[in-house]
Amino acid sequence: MDQIQKVEQEILELRQKLREKEDELYALKLNYHSSQSAQAHNGDESQITEETTIKQWTLPKWAIERYSRQILLREIGVAGQARICAAKVLIVGAGGLGCPAAMYLAGAGVGEIGIVDYDTVEISNIHRQLLHREIDTDVNKAESAARAIRSINSHIKVTPYKVQLDSTNAIQIASKYDVVLDCTDNAPTRYLLSDLCVLAKLPLISGSALKLEGQLTVYCYRADLHSVDKSSTYRGPCYRCVFSVPPSPDALGSCSQHGVAPPVPGVIGTLQATEALKFIIGHPSRNLLVERMLIMDVDDMSCKVVQLRPRNPMCAICSDTPTITQLIDYEVFCKTQAKEKELDLKILPPMNRITAVELQTLLLSKSTLLLDVRSAAEFDMCNIDGADNWPIDYVDRRLEELLKKTEENDGAVVFICRRGNDSQIAAKMLLDKLPEAHRHKVKDMEGGLHAWAKYVDKDFPVY
Ligand SMILES: [Zn+2]
Repeated sequence: MDQIQKVEQEILELRQKLREKEDELYALKLNYHSSQSAQAHNGDESQITEETTIKQWTLPKWAIERYSRQILLREIGVAGQARICAAKVLIVGAGGLGCPAAMYLAGAGVGEIGIVDYDTVEISNIHRQLLHREIDTDVNKAESAARAIRSINSHIKVTPYKVQLDSTNAIQIASKYDVVLDCTDNAPTRYLLSDLCVLAKLPLISGSALKLEGQLTVYCYRADLHSVDKSSTYRGPCYRCVFSVPPSPDALGSCSQHGVAPPVPGVIGTLQATEALKFIIGHPSRNLLVERMLIMDVDDMSCKVVQLRPRNPMCAICSDTPTITQLIDYEVFCKTQAKEKELDLKILPPMNRITAVELQTLLLSKSTLLLDVRSAAEFDMCNIDGADNWPIDYVDRRLEELLKKTEENDGAVVFICRRGNDSQIAAKMLLDKLPEAHRHKVKDMEGGLHAWAKYVDKDFPVY
């Protein structure tokens, strides 16, 4: 064991040195490439330029060699590649969607890529967020992703933003870019990005992936800002045109709650990069997923494109007479938090809550009933000895049975879940119907299994 720890420590130190050297090399290369471009600008004509009057594009030798396989495409050509090299794309979220999107945009040579993410890499992310490595655990995701894509292409500029995008910083960050990719997974950020793109006049390429399903569409398209459709006044819908009212917080799902098959965000993120590249090289709106949504289900490999509503002439933000003219507080608007990790419900009185250590003591009594309200799949992954699995949707359907069980039980009836939120909801459903005399028996374990792993059983898996 000592020998294993010693070698692991040596590897950590070597990797840290490797990172420092990679950063040094990236800075040197970036410096070298920009000095080459400056020389080209002053002397020969090998830099990437667009003569606005005669539309004569040129590419330097390195770019022709590097991007030749895509330049060969009639749809890209030299002009398209020059546009890609001059483009600036902002990726919001360096997770399952953001990782593949960033990889392909970097590979294709997008000149500047910004990556926004406040979160840090966890071991449970790596099965689908393939820019991050085990060694990046606890490192900020924007930083980890930026480092990885710099190693794919040192000719591009990559800027990590280690912040939570919100109403105070979004316009300042996004205004430096030409296209925004929504690679997030929560309603407040979806509305924020859509409103931001309406106000900043940027197209928004929106992806989502959950369980076995993926979706992709383009919001906030404006023909007047697009190189091909410029003469038209056509504008595609924004997110609010399609979803004017936020979904109820209960209807929202996340990958950490419901799970996701790793290739689904891989495919959708890759297609987000494809739509971004198509926009950049000048594909017209009819060829982009504007007013249309691609829906993919890998369960039976079905894939369809459905028509979305057109722009709503009465939309609160993108109509000609908007009622919203600046960014608002989207967590208040959606009645949910943008940071899932900080969700900490407090809906039960103190008498109905116990700590992990108190539960450990209660479990010494045979009359304690422990009800785990997670899904069956989660329960099968790991559970506390003696717990019964009562998935939260069963609690609602079998409430009568549970009321009887509680009234007949002499000891405590303790609810538990992963983080201590669903267990409170389940306990409250029971408490609302339970006669006063039995209410003291109902307990919720604060902090859920995460707290159990922290304070009682260090070997219990945390996911
Ligand atoms: Zn709208």
